[in-house]
Amino acid sequence: MKLILKLLFHLLVVLLLTLLTQVGGVVWLITILVFNKTKFKRRWFIPSFLTFYLACTFLIVPLVASVDGRVPLPVSKSGKIAPHNLITVILNRHYVKEELLKELNVISKEFTKTHSSTKLIYLDANFPFIDGFTLLPHRSHNDGRKIDLAFIYTKSNNITNSKPSRSGYGFFEEPRKGEYNQPKACLLNDYWQYDFTKHLTLGSSSKYKFDENSTKDLLLIILNRAKTHKVFIEPHLKTRLKIDHAKCRYHGCKAVRHDDHIHYQI
Ligand SMILES: [Zn+2]
Repeated sequence: MKLILKLLFHLLVVLLLTLLTQVGGVVWLITILVFNKTKFKRRWFIPSFLTFYLACTFLIVPLVASVDGRVPLPVSKSGKIAPHNLITVILNRHYVKEELLKELNVISKEFTKTHSSTKLIYLDANFPFIDGFTLLPHRSHNDGRKIDLAFIYTKSNNITNSKPSRSGYGFFEEPRKGEYNQPKACLLNDYWQYDFTKHLTLGSSSKYKFDENSTKDLLLIILNRAKTHKVFIEPHLKTRLKIDHAKCRYHGCKAVRHDDHIHYQI
């Protein structure tokens, strides 16, 4: 009985780590193997796993991902393309096809011509390996061709590169009076998951204001690229920003609301 419980526990951990980081489950199994073959003390298991995991994430995965045509996005906070939260990087959720990275570089270069201090801040992208392996909770981030980008905000009337929510998700730019309320329509039709990301902010601040002009400028640069396939934002923002472009689409009630970030795919 004890053995079955132990086995179930490890299976559950492997499953959760795989869903969250793609490679974490395999690293957990390797750590078990190493501990079974050696006489390391049990109390060193978690520190060893974390060491293996970080070594794998920062030294091995970026090299091996190129086999699948994927590359890691820039991870430095000081670059023009930067992660909003380093957890995205630690969890291996910042991989894209080389083609998408090239597009992002062009977009960022174009954008900084008029917004010199504003960075392209990314949220979840894709895992490093296997087309079809979905990066949950996103439905379509499974082939290296999708990425979520943060909106641009002001704080005390100045444009800032920081964002209102720690995760980058769940801080909604709500429909105003008179604007079509798509989130309400989806929730009324029992798509309970539509605003689920409100639980995933990891903490937020209301001191930020959505910056319509620069977010629109960024959206237009993305939409006017020939390689852009689709961009998703919530319908009331599309109307508010007066974006009339065939590639700016609605994602449907089965997804989650997109008035907290831009979904971009090539
Ligand atoms: Zn997305």
